[in-house]
Amino acid sequence: MIIDGKKIAQKIERQLTEKLKKLKTEPSLAIILIGKNSASEIYVQEKQEVCQRLNIKCLIFKLPISVTQNQLLALIDGFNEDKKVNGILVQLPLPDQININAVFCSISPEKDVDGLNPLNIGFLEIGQPFIIPPTAVAVLEIMKSYKIKLKGSKVVLVGYSNLVGKPLLPLLIEQGATVTICHKKTKNLAKITKEADILVVAVGKPNLIKAAMIKKGAIIIDVGINRVGKKIIGDVDFEKVKKKASFITPVPGGVGPITVMMLLRNLIEITRLQKE
Ligand code: NAP
Repeated sequence: MIIDGKKIAQKIERQLTEKLKKLKTEPSLAIILIGKNSASEIYVQEKQEVCQRLNIKCLIFKLPISVTQNQLLALIDGFNEDKKVNGILVQLPLPDQININAVFCSISPEKDVDGLNPLNIGFLEIGQPFIIPPTAVAVLEIMKSYKIKLKGSKVVLVGYSNLVGKPLLPLLIEQGATVTICHKKTKNLAKITKEADILVVAVGKPNLIKAAMIKKGAIIIDVGINRVGKKIIGDVDFEKVKKKASFITPVPGGVGPITVMMLLRNLIEITRLQKE
C-alpha cells in the first residue's frame, strides 16, 4: 500500500484550522533564509503557501550568503525579544562560516518551532517533549494514521541527523519499538535493513535502499528528498521496493507534506503557550 502523505496532511490542516479558531490570534512565524539555495527556496515557499492558507503570518528574512555569525545571531536575538514574533525558523543548510550549534542555542526555546534548541532536544531525550522536530513527528503521524504497530516492532533508522534520526530515536523507544541506528560508517547495511519490520531512511542519497535490502512485507518510510534532473526522488528505489513492501511512502507526497503541518502545529502550540 502506498502511503498517502497528502491526505494525512489535509486532515491535519483541518485540525489546525480548528485550533487556530480557538486561539483567536494570528500566529506569526519568522523564517530566515540564507543565500540562494534553490531547494531551500522551494521549502520556504511551501511553508509560506500553507501559512497563507491558514492565515498564519509568515515573515521571510533573506540574508546574503556572506552574512556573519554575529549578524545572524543579532537578527535572531531581535526576534526573541519581539512579542509580535511567535516562532523562529532558520532554514538549513547554513554557510560554512556559521556555527549551527550557536544558531540553535540562540533561538529562544519558547520560539523554537523546529525543536532544535538543546533545551528542547533535552526535554525530548528525557521523555518530556515540548517542541519536537517536525520531520521526526511526521514519521510518527504516518504510523498513527495507518495504525502501524510500534510496540515490539524492530525499527531500523538509516541516518542519524539532528533533524530526523536523533529525535526519532526517543520517540520510537517511548512507543515500545526496538531501534537500530545506521549511519555512514555502518558496515553491511543491507544485513541490518533486512531485519527491519519498519525501515526509516533519511540520508539524502538516491536509490540507497534497494529491494534486496528489505524484508518482504516491511514498512518503508522514505524521508529523503533528492533532486535528480528535474525529478524529485527519495532514498529508496521506489518502483522495485514497493513490490516487496507492505507499506511505503512515495517521494514526493509522503513525509514532506506532513512535515510542514507538524511545523505549523508546533507554531500554534507555542503561540498558545505564549498567550497564557
Ligand atoms: P544529514 O544531516 O546530511 O544526515 C544524513 C545522515 O545519513 C547522517 O546520519 C549520515 O551518517 C547518514 N548517511 C550518509 N550516507 C550514508 C550511507 N551511505 N549509509 C548510511 N547512512 C548514511 O541529512 P538530513 O538533514 O537528516 O536529511 C536527510 C534527507 O532527508 C535529505 O534528503 C533531506 O532532504 C531529507 N529531509 C526530508 C524532510 C521531509 O520533510 N521529507 C525533512 C528533512 C530532511 P553520519 O551521521 O555518519 O554522517
